[in-house]
Amino acid sequence: MANPTLLILAGDGIGPEVMGQVVRIIDWFGDKRDLAFDVDHDLVGGAAYDKHGTPLHDDTMAKALAADAVLLGAVGGPKYDALDFSVKPERGLLRLRKEMDLFSNLRPAQCFDALADFSSLKKDLVAGLDIMIVRELTSGVYFGEPRGIFEEGNERVGINTQRYTESEIDRVARSAFELARRRGNKVCSMEKANVMESGILWREVVQKVHDEDYPDVELSHMYADNGAMQLVRAPKQFDVIVTDNLFGDILSDCAAMLTGSLGMLPSASLGAPNADGRPKALYEPVHGSAPDIAGQGKANPIACILSFAMALRYSFDQGDEAARLEKAVEQVLADGARTADLMGPEGGSPISTSEMGDAILAALDASL
Ligand code: NAD
Repeated sequence: MANPTLLILAGDGIGPEVMGQVVRIIDWFGDKRDLAFDVDHDLVGGAAYDKHGTPLHDDTMAKALAADAVLLGAVGGPKYDALDFSVKPERGLLRLRKEMDLFSNLRPAQCFDALADFSSLKKDLVAGLDIMIVRELTSGVYFGEPRGIFEEGNERVGINTQRYTESEIDRVARSAFELARRRGNKVCSMEKANVMESGILWREVVQKVHDEDYPDVELSHMYADNGAMQLVRAPKQFDVIVTDNLFGDILSDCAAMLTGSLGMLPSASLGAPNADGRPKALYEPVHGSAPDIAGQGKANPIACILSFAMALRYSFDQGDEAARLEKAVEQVLADGARTADLMGPEGGSPISTSEMGDAILAALDASL
């Protein structure tokens, strides 16, 4: 059988540095676990603009659509700040998400015990935390029409429209229920059905999908403002949270910060399954290109490495190998390995990006 294919788009700033460590880990799985991938590399963001005058070349887009999964580093940087909006590095990322129709954005908030002190919450509230926010990514108020700033009488009015079709809600609800079955089997759906019609429809459709096809999964509904409160009051009550684009944007950032550093946070964006059952998929760290530390070997590669672990689990059905990689990360943190972003107030000597890669590879070797 042919190897599964990966398209790597390392991007700008620290993107290539952190992705360099992921490539070493991909090679390790090929050598030691008989899990080889056919890997192709291409440009995105500022790097693509520099070469092609566009943040995503059509050929790269075609490769992304054909690949079994795309791994992305980060895009952007001050060099590109003055560019026209249409060719800014972020447009490359937006085009990928749009043309791959990645409607389900998975943002785990997982707290490694060794880093529980980094959270802004008390340690016992977050130690062992493992929740997943599923955010609808391609519709809702960021896309709804009409939108714009219009003249109305003697003043202007700014308009955005929250709009969801039943099928858009249905497909993201299914993706949340499927995920829950692989985890703690609980879904909490969040909207504002008390004040928004789109929220009423959201609640109805999620309940219908549940009753018809996922009655084995425990489902609850919560108003999103209460959800925000509960996330900081008692986050461990949740397993999978499913919500719309706007609330998901806010709630996932809030949940992410429960766990400490930006350098630790992976994400996945999934689309509809192909004929072989694999969803269209893009995996990327939550952080940006960190121009302030780019090129200095200081970046924490763990967010990007954990994004590859998500690819193993959600694109390649290798949950055991994903867990092996996550455990290796947990082990090196428990052993005290820290990049600069993970240094506490007590200080110490941070290790470099590649030394963190070395440590994780050694922990993977030890797992055999
Ligand atoms: P950022 O995430 O790049 O950096 C924020 C802070 O976190 C910086 O101090 C940075 O040094 C630190 N940081 C981020 N990732 C780190 C890592 N892996 N290890 C150690 N420290 C890390 O956000 P920003 O500074 O607001 O944006 C910088 C550029 O990145 C901008 O051009 C922005 O548009 C872009 N950006 C891209 C993405 C993406 O590619 N998905 C996301 C956010 C921002």
